[in-house]
Amino acid sequence: MNRIGFGFDSHRFESGRPLMLAGVRVDYDRGLAGYSDGDAALHALIDAMLGAASLGDIGEMFPDTDPKWAGADSGRLTTEAVGQLAVMGWEVVNCDITIITESPNLGSYKEAMRERVADLLGVDAVSVGLKAKTAEGMGLIGAGEGLVAFAVVLIEETKL
Ligand code: MG
Repeated sequence: MNRIGFGFDSHRFESGRPLMLAGVRVDYDRGLAGYSDGDAALHALIDAMLGAASLGDIGEMFPDTDPKWAGADSGRLTTEAVGQLAVMGWEVVNCDITIITESPNLGSYKEAMRERVADLLGVDAVSVGLKAKTAEGMGLIGAGEGLVAFAVVLIEETKL
């Protein structure tokens, strides 16, 4: 059996933090605010996985009241979520991520992001789609206040 999941996340830019997106350090003058490293792309991906498996959401699995997750590497949160799915008998087939940000331009990072996400999910890079778009200058994202990410994931029952 297969199931599909969808995830969304948004984070505000903040000075003095490294920018982490899809598990990759991006060269930029601001990072993303948040309790963890603020990696909105991985957070959307985690929510898509948890949604597909009916395992709640990222806030329930990694509560921001738990000091264990303060400043957490979202790559670690992703592998934790993959582990939770595995316990329930699910594995990821493929995923597709869209990041919307006015800047920086992510074109030169997309391949590294796909490779990193594939590593975290335990799939081949051909099973990871990753797109970067702008908001064409419209609204809060267009004004560069922050960025948003969307993800869909297909999971299937682990073959024994
Ligand atoms: Mg988040």
